[in-house]
Amino acid sequence: MARVYNFSAGPAVLPEEVLKEAADEMLDYRGCGMSVMEMSHRSQMFADIIETAEADLRELMNIPDNYKVLFLQGGASQQFSAIPMNLMKNKVADYIITGQWAKKACQEAQRYGKVNIIASSEDKTYTYIPDCSDLPISEDADYVYVCWNNTIYGTKYNKVPNTKGKILVADMSSSILSEPVNVEDFGVIYFGVQKNVGPAGVVICIIREDLITDDVLPGTPTMLKWKTQADANSLYNTPPCYGIYICGKVFQWLKKQGGLEAMKQRNEEKAKLLYDFLDQSELFKGTVEKKDRSLMNVPFVTGDKDLDAKFVAEAKAEGLENLKGHRTVGGMRASIYNAMPKAGVEKLVAFMKKFEEENK
Ligand code: PMP
Repeated sequence: MARVYNFSAGPAVLPEEVLKEAADEMLDYRGCGMSVMEMSHRSQMFADIIETAEADLRELMNIPDNYKVLFLQGGASQQFSAIPMNLMKNKVADYIITGQWAKKACQEAQRYGKVNIIASSEDKTYTYIPDCSDLPISEDADYVYVCWNNTIYGTKYNKVPNTKGKILVADMSSSILSEPVNVEDFGVIYFGVQKNVGPAGVVICIIREDLITDDVLPGTPTMLKWKTQADANSLYNTPPCYGIYICGKVFQWLKKQGGLEAMKQRNEEKAKLLYDFLDQSELFKGTVEKKDRSLMNVPFVTGDKDLDAKFVAEAKAEGLENLKGHRTVGGMRASIYNAMPKAGVEKLVAFMKKFEEENK
């Protein structure tokens, strides 16, 4: 078996231990004679799986008791609609635009109410995070929305925006569990799991209890009302059982690694290897402002499209896969999520050095 180093932005690399464990349990989960894919979501076996997953996530993130954890479907994109539907009481929201995912969420919210763009880094192709210390927050805003880590552009907030008392909603799809965050700074944290946690098909929402109400926009589908799933402990309908099971295994793996402080340290070490190389390279260049660099997604370019393509092809031949940048920005992007071993980043940097020597 030859596993590659997979730098995909998502779906992305998962811990090998988790995959092996899942393989071992595939035909007969803990003596029950069937796989997790085949068991009833109403069974005690599955109740144990989802309850343990939630408890482990709560422990890892230190989630306070007054926050609900919902395991949902529809991807992060479905929450682009659910958020305004559940939160727009005044039908006003403030969005900070730091990339395509924030922009898409903003466009969706515009279907439901008045949306103010209170900051944006579009002027410099999203290569930085705007100063969010004194924003023109709307007096009647129901919430302020951010995309915490920008998967495509490779930027991340390092400071919680000053929302002047308004509820902060954050899409943390591409940085969740990569380092600790203070959950209480947010009204809603949500993430599609297919980058740093598990297989595509699960989106997890961590929502302050008082924001989960029956007072939603008229016409909100039952399935998009957070209260529906909160009242049913995420089992209103059949949940993505197998995906939740894998997420649970990744949470246990993270606990074994030492939790989020340990992951932060490891992620900083991995990212530093790559950024330090980029900073001295005469061929490759990082594309974002240093102060706003993501620990998870590292975009870089040579400045020459053909050379970029050559790099991606030769890297692939070396077992370094999925390094092509997002189709809207070109160049390269290395996604180095929790499950990417340091050896993978070391191999990438060694290959970049060699490529630079050969293509100067
Ligand atoms: N938000 C961010 C930050 C993302 O990176 C992505 C996916 N690449 C999305 C939202 C959309 O996620 P989904 O495909 O689960 O709807």
